[in-house]
Amino acid sequence: MNENSIAPALYVVATPIGNLGDITLRALEVLRAADGIACEDTRHARHLLDHHGIRVPTLALHQHNENEAAAKLVRLLGEGKRIALISDAGTPGISDPGAKAVAAVRAAGFPVIPLPGANAAATALSAAGLEDGRFLFVGFLPAKVGARGTAIEHLAGIEAALVFYEAPHRVLETIADLAARLEPEREIVIARELTKLFEQIVRLPLAEAVAWLEADPDRQRGEFVLIVWPPPPRQGLDRETERVLGLLLAELPVKQAAQLAAAITGQAKNALYARALELKT
Ligand code: SAM
Repeated sequence: MNENSIAPALYVVATPIGNLGDITLRALEVLRAADGIACEDTRHARHLLDHHGIRVPTLALHQHNENEAAAKLVRLLGEGKRIALISDAGTPGISDPGAKAVAAVRAAGFPVIPLPGANAAATALSAAGLEDGRFLFVGFLPAKVGARGTAIEHLAGIEAALVFYEAPHRVLETIADLAARLEPEREIVIARELTKLFEQIVRLPLAEAVAWLEADPDRQRGEFVLIVWPPPPRQGLDRETERVLGLLLAELPVKQAAQLAAAITGQAKNALYARALELKT
């Protein structure tokens, strides 16, 4: 690829999550050829760009100016410019600004070209050994205790691994909350400082995770990806079916509640009827 083969477009470019070597050849070519680089923090970006000798002008695009910055990108694209979009680390738009700008550029009819690369969740998953490959990327849980508890309760019945991002000052309380609200035998992978000097990846039962973190203060330092294994197979009905049946039983006789619950959830009527009888007694 040479500079002239890079067409006017918005290029969404993944950058390293720690180790500066984790950037693709194509990303470097596009960053060098761009007319401008939209970045979350221009000073932070300079560190990466200087490291690779890239002298392209930068413009700020962060969560507080994303709408105006997106309008500016659309104007520049209208002038035939090639614009790269990067975030502070990893893939833009994943727990990072970028999605609004991408949507605005798409809506304006300009091409958006993704350049894949580093992402903390994918990096942690690749080293976790999650054999049943299903996972739900949650990102950051709410910071407030009440909202976080509610969020975890909503995730509890999902039959997939749960992938979280967490900051060092909240990792202990978040893991304590996960351990209190989810089955303690569910395993967790704590992936810390990925691709960096103090990288650490451990897998242990949720019930042991708080003690592990507390055993050494260094274990609470740095950036974290947490992967909680799927819930153990349930005997009987799944959580959502139980919830629906419970709600209906509060208002209706057993037979009707079981019939409606079967229609809503697609579960067998007989099983629902038997469970409804149990709940009523
Ligand atoms: N866009 C990024 C990506 O593609 O992964 C994520 C940005 S988000 C603002 C930052 C969070 O990602 C951190 O708080 C941490 O949870 C996770 N993270 C980023 N770099 C990491 C690393 N080197 N090791 C572990 N987690 C990391």
